[in-house]
Amino acid sequence: MAEIRTDFPVSKPKRKILIVEDEFVNRHILTAYLEDEYDVICAENGAEARETILGYGDRLSLVLLDLILPDVHGLDILRWIKEDPRFSGIPVIVMTADSGAEVECLNIGAIDFITKPYPMPAVVQARVRRTIELYEDRLLIRETERDALTGLYTREYFFRYAGQYDDYHPGTETDAVVIDVNHFQMINERFGRAYADGVLKRMAAAVLEITERTGGIGCRRGADTFLMYGPHEDDYAPYLEKIVSAACGGDAGRVRVRMGVCPGCDRSIEMEHRFDRAKIAADTLRNSYTAFIALYDGALHEKEMYNERLIDDFDEAVAKGQFSVWFQPKYDIRPETPVICGAEALVRWIHPTLGFVSPGGFIPLLENNGLIRKLDDYIWRRTASFISEWRKRFENVVPISVNVSRVDMSDPDLPETMKAIADENGLPCEAIHLEITESAYTENAERIIETVKRLREIGFVIEMDDFGSGYSSINAVSTLPIDALKLDMALVRNGLKENGNARMLKAVIDMSASLSVPMIAEGVETEQQMLALREMGCDMVQGYYFARPMPAAEFGEYLAARLTPKG
Ligand code: C2E
Ligand code: MG
Ligand code: MG
Repeated sequence: MAEIRTDFPVSKPKRKILIVEDEFVNRHILTAYLEDEYDVICAENGAEARETILGYGDRLSLVLLDLILPDVHGLDILRWIKEDPRFSGIPVIVMTADSGAEVECLNIGAIDFITKPYPMPAVVQARVRRTIELYEDRLLIRETERDALTGLYTREYFFRYAGQYDDYHPGTETDAVVIDVNHFQMINERFGRAYADGVLKRMAAAVLEITERTGGIGCRRGADTFLMYGPHEDDYAPYLEKIVSAACGGDAGRVRVRMGVCPGCDRSIEMEHRFDRAKIAADTLRNSYTAFIALYDGALHEKEMYNERLIDDFDEAVAKGQFSVWFQPKYDIRPETPVICGAEALVRWIHPTLGFVSPGGFIPLLENNGLIRKLDDYIWRRTASFISEWRKRFENVVPISVNVSRVDMSDPDLPETMKAIADENGLPCEAIHLEITESAYTENAERIIETVKRLREIGFVIEMDDFGSGYSSINAVSTLPIDALKLDMALVRNGLKENGNARMLKAVIDMSASLSVPMIAEGVETEQQMLALREMGCDMVQGYYFARPMPAAEFGEYLAARLTPKG
């Protein structure tokens, strides 16, 4: 039987060490100490040393350098190594009998000393090992601390260094700054990845220049967000200008940038949170075409506290029934006398101490942390049970729509959930319409379209909400599975006011006609507006002109006045 070998040579390459030493005996001793563990290369003089270093570059893990050489002084070699960026990172241990040279060597960049005559082998080996370890750790840090594209600090290291900044500058007032590109995704799509990368690189260079001037530090966090931390500045406008012009390169106006500043940071809150605040400020400018810098101030702080409170109170609010569903009718305006043709279910939160809380405020908040799914599920069930109640009382109850958040749309089980809710309340699916906001379609188009298709197959009717708020193109809409379009309220307002953009409104309404889907206009407050919309070809209308949203019981009576009772 063949003998089983357990001593296969390990193929891991040994680290390379260069010994620069002119005396044969010394070279021999050191080599003997180290050759088991390392691949030892020797140079007998300065010229050979240079040649070897040029040849191997930073593949050398260490240089052991004698100071007294036949052709040059060891210090000259040391200086030459440390001044050339190609190999200035290689650690150098100086070997000398003259302890007087130590300080000068350390100043030039030597990392350690070994005195002659050489100490015990174990001491030399330990020093060499330790030095190489330190050097490699540093290399590792350098690789992960910088973002590959821009060379700025990565998020993790940035927050560490920002913390150190505080430690080293205990009395300094500091600012946290967030810089974001508006609609970066569009730049990517329109001009290509390489162009977008160029934008980011130029922005990073500007950030670096600014932080070098202010004495702060900079970072790239995520795709198109940059952070700066440093001493307080009174005016960020010149810095923003610098970043914008860098971002645009030669194409002035092509890239829009917003900046949020949390000035004079409260040091008792966590570093990341200070940047959350700067981000909150920056995001107030998301859709602004006029302002580009925002400060985190008292008002935003109050709002943040208020929002936190809402999130804290949310679960209890659901449990205690603080959320209720209100209903607002939709009217078909094609007949001379408009007739009720539907209604929308709208959530209302009556908070025990804060009072009425606006959905426009808390819905986005709940969307951000996913809580909206719980709320919507609750609202859908409540709505279905009201519809079921009304269908028992009246003939021909109009379909009622519920709002479906973009967050709900990411749940692959949504169609089954909806179907179950309809079944449990004895409703056909057509009794419930689903309002899905236009922006949801563009966020994750393929998956959403798939989900919407399945919902329609089951029998639900889909209305696209906030249509015309600027996300989808006409082309895209013609291919989407939709049964009705709900015009964005701002578009309606703007189209109907004096000197407003009526042509735009008309064009959007014409579009729905060409797609043969009914158009519903929201926010209609006057008869004049209703008539103007009818004139433009709009089919249905929802708004204060007909009725404001009302509690379920009141809406039950509203229906009673308009529908035929059963039996
Ligand atoms: P939306 O779905 O576009 O709802 C229409 C909004 O317009 C409602 O605001 C409604 O009260 C308001 N409105 C209707 N007619 C008029 C009018 O003539 N004038 C004015 N000024 N406003 C009118 P509301 O109830 O504040 O809801 C705001 C948004 O919150 C809704 O916009 C919808 O996106 C969201 N939302 C409401 N309820 C729910 C819900 O149960 N779930 C989800 N996910 N979102 C909801
Ligand atoms: Mg809606
Ligand atoms: Mg709407």
